[in-house]
Amino acid sequence: APLVGVLALQGGVREHIRALEAAGARTMLVRRPAELDAVDGLVLPGGESTTIDKLMRLYQIAEPLKAKIAAGFPVYGSCAGLILLADRITDPALDAAGEPQQTLGGLDIVVRRNAFGRQRESFETELVFDGLQTLPSQDPGQPAAAVHAVFIRAPWVEKVGSSVQVLAQVSPAGSAPQAEKDSVARIVAVRSGKLLATSFHPEVTGESRIHELFIQMIRGDA
Ligand code: GLN
Repeated sequence: APLVGVLALQGGVREHIRALEAAGARTMLVRRPAELDAVDGLVLPGGESTTIDKLMRLYQIAEPLKAKIAAGFPVYGSCAGLILLADRITDPALDAAGEPQQTLGGLDIVVRRNAFGRQRESFETELVFDGLQTLPSQDPGQPAAAVHAVFIRAPWVEKVGSSVQVLAQVSPAGSAPQAEKDSVARIVAVRSGKLLATSFHPEVTGESRIHELFIQMIRGDA
C-alpha cells in the first residue's frame, strides 16, 4: 500500500490519517523536508491557510514541496489545503506587516476564501461527485456519485484553467446560503494531473472514497 503523508503543522490532521487508513493507505505525519521524500503523496488538511502558509515557510518545507508539485508529486488539499494549492486567491489575507498570504500553487484556479459567508459559517449538503464510479470499493449496484459534504468557512473555486477538471459543484438548490442568493452553481472539487482539492471536509463524516480516489491517483490507477 502507498505511504501517504499528512502535513501536520496545523489543522485537522488526525481525521485525514483515519480516512486514509480506512481507504487502505499507510500513513505518516509530515513536518520536515526530509519527511516529504519518504512519502508517495501528501494531504494538506483543513485549518487556517494563513497559519499553515507561515509554518510551511518557517519549517522550510514550502519550497521543496513546490518543487515536488511541479515534478508531479500527488497532493490532496481539503478546504485550507485547497487554498494552498491554488495559483491565485481573490482576497489574500495580509499579515501584521502587510504581507499577503502565499500559496504553494500548482492548481490553475482562482479561489475565494470564506466564500460561503461568515454568519452561517458551516453547512452540509449532498453533492454529486464525479470520479468515484470506478473505485475498487464501489459496489456496482450502488450509485457512486452522492457524497455528504461538510463545509466549514469554506472557499469556493471562482475560475478554473483548461487543465482543471471540475468534480463537484454546490447547486443553487443546495443548502449553501450564498449559492442560493447567487443562483449560481459553485465549484467545490477539482482535479488537475496528480493534484486533487475539495472545499469541503470528507474526513469528518466517515467518507473515505475521496481519499480512496487520491490513493488510486497515487497508484496511477485513476
Ligand atoms: N477559511 C479557512 C482559510 O482561509 C479555511 C477553513 C477550513 O479549512 N475549514 O484557511
